[in-house]
Amino acid sequence: MRALNSLCRAANTLYGRPVGAGTAVARCGLCGTAASGSGKFQPDFGLLFDIDGVLVRGKTPIPAAKKAFQKLVDSNGQFVVPVVFVTNAGNCLRQKKADQLSHILGVSISQDQVMMSHSPLRMFRKYHDQCVLVSGQGPVLDIAKNLGFTKVISIDMLRESYPLLDMVDHNRRPKLPASPVANLPKVEAVILFGEPIRWETNLQLIVDVLLTNGNLSNAYLNSPFPHLPLLACNMDLMWMAEAHSPRFGHGTFLVCLENIYKKITGKDLKYEALMGKPSELTYHYAEYLIREQAAERGWSTPIRTLYAIGDNLMTDIYGANLYNRYLEERSSRKTAKTVAKVVASAHGSTPSPTSAVPQEVDLAYSGWESELAAPSATSCTSFLVCTGVYNPHTEVPKDANQCIKETVFHGHRDFRFDPALVEPSHIVQDVAAAVELIFQKENIGSAV
Ligand SMILES: [Mg+2]
Repeated sequence: MRALNSLCRAANTLYGRPVGAGTAVARCGLCGTAASGSGKFQPDFGLLFDIDGVLVRGKTPIPAAKKAFQKLVDSNGQFVVPVVFVTNAGNCLRQKKADQLSHILGVSISQDQVMMSHSPLRMFRKYHDQCVLVSGQGPVLDIAKNLGFTKVISIDMLRESYPLLDMVDHNRRPKLPASPVANLPKVEAVILFGEPIRWETNLQLIVDVLLTNGNLSNAYLNSPFPHLPLLACNMDLMWMAEAHSPRFGHGTFLVCLENIYKKITGKDLKYEALMGKPSELTYHYAEYLIREQAAERGWSTPIRTLYAIGDNLMTDIYGANLYNRYLEERSSRKTAKTVAKVVASAHGSTPSPTSAVPQEVDLAYSGWESELAAPSATSCTSFLVCTGVYNPHTEVPKDANQCIKETVFHGHRDFRFDPALVEPSHIVQDVAAAVELIFQKENIGSAV
């Protein structure tokens, strides 16, 4: 990543954005230094914070986090800009994470400000009344029900009903010949929340469900393809805990499942949806939460800019840049449509929908846009901090081609490596420096 050297230098360069006179007056209202009488400050930007490596390291708070958040609340402890925490973690409920963050940061965080890797599943309403099998650890049944699913089956429930299927651990095999207690309904979709505890059990039973079309009483005859809908959260191959080396994450579990399925059937495992950073779906949902928060506060100024702060090039930076690319393409298509309309009206004709605007990019998003309403943001700027996974002291090879060729892509099978997507807009020491730089870019002073 040749560009990292220059980005390091650029980290100390501040970019000022032209600010309109009206906006400037309003922003001075934020810091309380200008009694303009023009009304309250209304932010037109929102902040997306990664948690691990940015605000905490393991269970230890990063000192800069408290400092950063003191700048983001007013004297009543209310946020002065919309803030959403976007984590790929998924083994607990949002309220628990909000309580942890409130304790760590010393400010009150609501569960509506927390986005877990599974949060976008709320939008998949067509599966909410179907019978879904969930895989993961922690309170997965509660999490699924909290997201709106009404008929949920766990791997343990399957195992109890079909005790002959889980045979890897000899000590867990049934002592006596058992016949299936087949009183479970047919599984209609599979949801992978996160890495399970007993990988072999989950891999076996998930493959069984896919190859029997959801009815484990059946044998593997004429395995259906495409298989049952499969939705997966959190694609992180590895993650950093207290150990020196990274640990297996849910992405590693997905690699196992994909390869077993392919080996047995000769076909590629298909995902109905992949969510969690760096998926666009996750950022689209986060943008929606930012808009909702602004609306709840009565801020009518549209949110134009998102700032995403994270420590991981492959998830936080890749994801923010991918979403920025989507927003840019979207606004350029909008501009092209407007130009086409103006040109057409000047010529007294109706523009063909395909004449000036490429249509195919919109198709994948039409569902989300109707569910969440179109984003108001037009850009998403990525900030890389040096308090987590990213190591600023890693030597950067001089030959970029060599560097890219030698890079092992740890992203998911269905995402391709694009060097441009792992270049952060800014590299800063920590989250406090990120907030400081954002305030300078936005031309505003401290909120306190
Ligand atoms: Mg992180």
